[in-house]
Amino acid sequence: MSIQSNLNTIKASLPEHVTLVAVSKTKPVSDLIQAYEAGQRIFGENKIQEMTEKWEQMPKDIQWHMIGHVQSNKVKFMAPFVSLIHGVDSLKLLQEINKQALKNNRVIDCLLQMHIAEEETKFGLDENELNALISSSDFKEMKNIRILGLMGMATFTEDQNQIKKEFTHLKTIFDSIQKLETENCNLNTISMGMSGDYKLAIECGSTMVRIGSSIFGGR
Ligand SMILES: *Cc1c(COP(=O)(O)O)cnc(C)c1O
Repeated sequence: MSIQSNLNTIKASLPEHVTLVAVSKTKPVSDLIQAYEAGQRIFGENKIQEMTEKWEQMPKDIQWHMIGHVQSNKVKFMAPFVSLIHGVDSLKLLQEINKQALKNNRVIDCLLQMHIAEEETKFGLDENELNALISSSDFKEMKNIRILGLMGMATFTEDQNQIKKEFTHLKTIFDSIQKLETENCNLNTISMGMSGDYKLAIECGSTMVRIGSSIFGGR
């Protein structure tokens, strides 16, 4: 199957309110161009250097999403162009993003990454950390970031009930923070679901799916 037909099949299966992030990590620019020519404008990468190199080579109407774990000292490389950072999981990182956004005279959209999986290894905040972060005065003072919502990854398992439970949990947390809105929040996005579980994620309330291998093939 071609990248174009994979994309068309997936797009046809998505409800209108769900945004598709085409996860192009490790794939060559020639593959991204095929997706671009098929109409895709939102790409997700998990390494800042790789994303920056692709940004330099690709058309400028693309929205680049950083979906991987972000090290504070590398934020400056993507601050001029990144469209949405999915994996924000500390106040310290958010402060660095705010600082670099200010230097670039822009506001950078972010999602807060929640730890919803059973595995210890996955990054993300728990509910207490989330509430502490968004109710802190340091957070309220940041003017160059905007929180659009939450991101999460389910446990790597075949157990659909387990995955469903975790996605539903993320949706519940999202609903619970609606009342906490501050000026730098505009909560409308739940980023959950990948190639293997995006349909279930959408059933559970996802508004943004991050799909790689089902579009570009295995890595
Ligand atoms: C790689 C990756 C994806 C896409 O995974 P696929 O299974 O290839 O669709 C989604 N989200 C994150 C955070 C990733 O790192």
